[in-house]
Amino acid sequence: MQTRGRSRVPQCGAIQQAGGGRVAMESAGTSSRDQVVAVVGGGLVGALNACFFARRGFQVKVFESREDIRNAEIVRGRSINLALSHRGRQALSRVGMEEKIVSKGIPMHARMIHSLSGKQSPIPYGKKGQYILSVDRANLNKALLTEAESYPNAKINFDHKLEDWSTDTGLMTFLRPDGSKESLKADLIVGCDGAFSTLRKQFLRLSRFNYSQTYIPHGYLELTMPPLAGEFAMKPNFLHIWPRNTFMMIALPNLDKTFTCTLFMPFDVFEKITSGDQVIDFFQTYFPDAIPLIGVDALKRDYFRLPAQAMVSVKCSPYHINDKCVLMGDAAHAVVPFYGQGMNAGFEDCIVFDEIMDQYNEDFSAVLPEYTRVRVPDDHTIADLAMYNYVEMRAHVNSKWFRFRKNLDNILHFLLPKTIVTFTRIRYHEALQRWHWQNKVINRGLLVCAAGTVLGGSYLLINKTPKISNIPMEKIWDRLLLLKVWQ
Ligand SMILES: Cc1cc2nc3c(=O)[nH]c(=O)nc-3n(C[C@H](O)[C@H](O)[C@H](O)COP(=O)(O)OP(=O)(O)OC[C@H]3O[C@@H](n4cnc5c(N)ncnc54)[C@H](O)[C@@H]3O)c2cc1C
Repeated sequence: MQTRGRSRVPQCGAIQQAGGGRVAMESAGTSSRDQVVAVVGGGLVGALNACFFARRGFQVKVFESREDIRNAEIVRGRSINLALSHRGRQALSRVGMEEKIVSKGIPMHARMIHSLSGKQSPIPYGKKGQYILSVDRANLNKALLTEAESYPNAKINFDHKLEDWSTDTGLMTFLRPDGSKESLKADLIVGCDGAFSTLRKQFLRLSRFNYSQTYIPHGYLELTMPPLAGEFAMKPNFLHIWPRNTFMMIALPNLDKTFTCTLFMPFDVFEKITSGDQVIDFFQTYFPDAIPLIGVDALKRDYFRLPAQAMVSVKCSPYHINDKCVLMGDAAHAVVPFYGQGMNAGFEDCIVFDEIMDQYNEDFSAVLPEYTRVRVPDDHTIADLAMYNYVEMRAHVNSKWFRFRKNLDNILHFLLPKTIVTFTRIRYHEALQRWHWQNKVINRGLLVCAAGTVLGGSYLLINKTPKISNIPMEKIWDRLLLLKVWQ
């Protein structure tokens, strides 16, 4: 594998202005080290992917539609903080970034369930000592961009919005903020341009490309819970959840001792709340313990700061076109955020691709179809699991049965944990199979226990109860009267 900064890596040439009729064909095509990999999208997955390709020595060119977020005053993202777990950490460690990111994260060892009465009960994620991390999205993205740029063979082109590309020629056209256009061809195009991928649009025109997208009826908005007397207003090492059946609120801690609260609700509920007083009434009914912590004025103001955002689940297959183009991250599989796996899965895409590159000696014509074959079933599974958790987090965590079952799951953790999704790199579809098997075992175990209790009880009733014919009639009458009084 090529290591960073080797002098034999040639620097990329400049992109040519398409307006002048000149199109840059940047691939020398002779050595793989001269091959150009264009990464479209400099978000979380694109920036990390740039590091993976740069380590191999490819000429990496990232094209990001936004300005450089490291210089921007306001960074618009899809959420302020994210839960980073094992898969994401593994990917970061492959590019030497794990410690840097983990040191700026806040461990969350359990979910903390807030009941309507304000009672708080923890539900651990996994075994003792296991935790996920709350990380700042913007800081993570900035750190990855800086890391990518530190490779001499990688260049990030901000303010380059992919407008169109040709599946025949691979020619990409980028729109610049001043209205001008630039065009480029690359040896490989990697689509990391998010849930509404422009690159993916061309896939839709191809025969035998499967695609589905589902908007859930819920939207989300974010509120900030400030520090209280200079400290976190709630216990920091938890992912706080207020489950309220049809909707819920969650809160993740930030390094500045604030919490970012995300309220998930059906759009029609959001739309019914139109004044500050209605916001307070609503919180008084469903999240009374959060009002003094967020603050009445802040609630009235921040609730209307931005409209609620939509959430979409996208599945597609295949992820590649010939040896030319491949989709990764949300561009390939946007998932609803209820398993905290969207970014983690996208980061794992980068590892899986990298491992297949080793297996097939960087031969794109073999690597791309293999990547689709291996990754599609796993990404589709995590999309389904995220949808399932969407129901579980809102409703089941309220139920005593769920909590009882969760405790059983946790006891069985070292054998067959559902949490292998969060704390291992076992393939998502295998994790699902194991989880089904575990559920079957637990349900059968409970059935056996219930049957044992019924049989044992019947035995005791038959053998240990005094024979009814031996009891005098007046005593039976007395016992019946007693029963009536107790009803
Ligand atoms: C509310 C919420 C909470 C979430 N919480 C978690 C969590 O806790 N844990 C987790 O793992 N995941 C979480 N996710 C999912 C996570 O945000 C995504 O999976 C992740 O951002 C995907 O990264 P990406 O790089 O593929 O896409 P994006 O982050 O969307 O980045 C795409 C990039 O491409 C750029 N781009 C778009 N179009 C073009 C174009 N035409 N030309 C050039 N550039 C373009 C964009 O500007 C952007 O920078 C959450 C999502 C939401 C909505």
